[in-house]
Amino acid sequence: MASPSAGCLVCAEPAVEDFLDLGSTALANKFPSAEDLGRPEPRFSLRVGFCHGCGHVQLVERVPPEAMFTDYLYVSSASDTLRAHFDDLATTLTARHGLAGGGFVIDIGCNDASLLCAFRDRGAATLGVDPAENLAEFSRGAGIERYQGFFGADTAPEIVDRRGRAALITATNTFPHIPDLQGFVAGLDTALAPGGAFVLEAHYLVDLLDQLAFDTVYHEHVSYWALGPMMRLFSDHGMEVVRAERLPIHHGQLRATVMRQGEGEVDDTVAEVLAVERGLGIDRLETWRAFAARVDRLKTEVVDCLRGLKAGGRRLAGYGAPAKGSTLLEHFGIGPDLLDFIADRSPLKQGRYTPGSHIPIVAPGRLLEDPSPDHVLLLAWNFEDEILAQQAEFRRRGGKFILPVPEVRIV
Ligand SMILES: [Zn+2]
Repeated sequence: MASPSAGCLVCAEPAVEDFLDLGSTALANKFPSAEDLGRPEPRFSLRVGFCHGCGHVQLVERVPPEAMFTDYLYVSSASDTLRAHFDDLATTLTARHGLAGGGFVIDIGCNDASLLCAFRDRGAATLGVDPAENLAEFSRGAGIERYQGFFGADTAPEIVDRRGRAALITATNTFPHIPDLQGFVAGLDTALAPGGAFVLEAHYLVDLLDQLAFDTVYHEHVSYWALGPMMRLFSDHGMEVVRAERLPIHHGQLRATVMRQGEGEVDDTVAEVLAVERGLGIDRLETWRAFAARVDRLKTEVVDCLRGLKAGGRRLAGYGAPAKGSTLLEHFGIGPDLLDFIADRSPLKQGRYTPGSHIPIVAPGRLLEDPSPDHVLLLAWNFEDEILAQQAEFRRRGGKFILPVPEVRIV
């Protein structure tokens, strides 16, 4: 059911060459219920390729977005780290873009409206855009107006008719999801007021390479962004990246500020970030072939570690059921034979099973109940500090966490 690529998403070059094949996997955010386990689970090819035209790293085959985003179980406010991040982001952008006096902000992929609440609390007018039907109640509950649908060239005019043009458009963790990049950027040009800015935050290819974060790869993420190909995309539409910032959140993100060409000053950060990318060779296919070989070695290391502990009589479980965990479990072939359960704080996931690997998901309190696990595989490894602090009691009683990426570490 996945559609083969019709060439590069950024530059339309037909030569997009595979370097990482993660096999055929279930959708990483479709957590089946007990009844669903009796039904066939759709699986789709998961392969990553490199564009010989512009260097953009992307999925080679893509699943239609409607299959992934209309019923969506990822909720931003489930993480303390993310809530604090959105508060900081709203403070920074309200000051930079002068929004405190009622300036209009659109957030694309607004999820549970956490970021827009932070903007509203600082004086901005807001609109959320998101296709997820099941998340509408969060915006309603928060009193944030929401446009239910995908953002693009076809929907931007309707949004402008309803609310006017925006001084600021944000997209946090949404930009890697967009297959029709040309339509998306055309929509930005329609919806941005003169002198307005688009600010995106996305997982960053340099950090993905550094941290061997292959589990960032799942069907929702059609693009893996570096600044180079991003500059090419916007320049093809008369826009430019005026500022590039690296952020520590998740496993490392890139924040880019984009304006129409000539409406803003391009600052030094753009050249600095580009120089780092060139130095690391992320614009060369050999770099990505070496990355895939490291993923193969990590798989052996993690599976050997878990099997060794199990053979020694240890009880094993997992912590965190993020989408990245779905990729890791499936690619490494880890199932209920190795992990008794997975603990996760999100009530939307508790009582369900991990996609493809079918490990039951329970509330974190289970870690302290008898028989409690000896070792817990930390699938949400990018939130290590936050989760270790939350689970201090489990560790005080002798419980250990296994960090699986970028190398096996037991803490
Ligand atoms: Zn390309």
